Amino acid sequence: MISKIVDYHSIGHLKYLVERARSVVITCHLSPDGDAIGSSLALCQLLRNLGKRADVVLPDQVPRQLTFITQEEVLPVTFSVNRIKAQSLINRASLIVCLDFNSLKRLDKLGPVVADARADKVVIDHHEDPDMEGLKVMISHPETSSTCELVYRVAMQAGWLRHLDRFVASCLYLGLMTDTGNFAYDNADNPEVFEIVAALMRHGIDRHELHKRAIDNYHVNALRLQGYAIHEKMRVDMERGAALITLDSAELERFDYQRGDTEALVNRPLSDPGIRWSTFMREDAEHIKVSMRAEGDFRVDEICARHFNGGGHVHAAGGEFYGTMAEAVAAYEAILATIPPLFPAAPSSENENKPTNIEDSKNNED
Ligand code: 5GP
Ligand code: MN
Repeated sequence: MISKIVDYHSIGHLKYLVERARSVVITCHLSPDGDAIGSSLALCQLLRNLGKRADVVLPDQVPRQLTFITQEEVLPVTFSVNRIKAQSLINRASLIVCLDFNSLKRLDKLGPVVADARADKVVIDHHEDPDMEGLKVMISHPETSSTCELVYRVAMQAGWLRHLDRFVASCLYLGLMTDTGNFAYDNADNPEVFEIVAALMRHGIDRHELHKRAIDNYHVNALRLQGYAIHEKMRVDMERGAALITLDSAELERFDYQRGDTEALVNRPLSDPGIRWSTFMREDAEHIKVSMRAEGDFRVDEICARHFNGGGHVHAAGGEFYGTMAEAVAAYEAILATIPPLFPAAPSSENENKPTNIEDSKNNED
């Protein structure tokens, strides 16, 4: 039994807006992941199946591993590539549905375009602390594993499930699978997640193929880059249970970095039971992209919001740092220094087997 967690008023209002809309634009956050793309394409196709005119407008391009899903049915329009088309779709739209984000900052340069649009606006999202004004409907459920789970629930409560087809089911599964780390993270600790998966499977989705293409899909260069990052660039502070990996633009270039190549790298250090906080910093063209993951009581959403212009979930968050990599690392180290050690430092006579700490690896590098 899948519970009706979305309030009736929001569902009723959303249905009314959809029925009235002549044309719908669906958008999601910058650097779209499986959940952002999956939920956007799923809702777009679902609305088309309902007889609506609907399009997806993305702020920037889809990572290599996820392009396969866009080629099937719905071709999204990318604002950074085809600004005129994206702008004209937004001008024409009477309804804009924002998926998998809750602050216009997450749309980058598309943000002001959406803010200025005359269309009614709706958010369907699972991130904490929504920060958006002027919405007609806000469906915000941080307790859900993914926006795809929430879109399924919205479709169920709105009575749209009979329009769900194999493509829509595949897109929803994509987001459920990627945001839960293939159902390994604690955000999948809800039997209803698996009831939704069962319902999607009944539409004939190819679960294995989706996993192979979206998650277990790295070019050899990407595998070498990840090996290098873990072997040469992972600094750990076992006393505080923290790990940091940084990759600057020269290192990325050396391994012919393509978007998506470092996806999930930030999760790797948490394989060690002694690590509860993992950080990855990558030097992109305009900023340092910061990703954080945590386990147990440690939360990273607040750190990303306060220090790295970002946010996210308690155990998975990200942000951006405007400055050099050295400055970003200094900012990280300042935060690290405020975190009480998990274990008291070992007395010096027993130091032989002491795990590497940040200072040690820094010295090794010099
Ligand atoms: P990732 O580390 O995979 O990029 O993102 C992990 C989580 O943090 C995702 O839920 C994502 O939406 C959120 N996140 C990543 N980058 C940012 C950012 O720059 N700003 C905000 N607000 N959230 C982010
Ligand atoms: Mn998501």
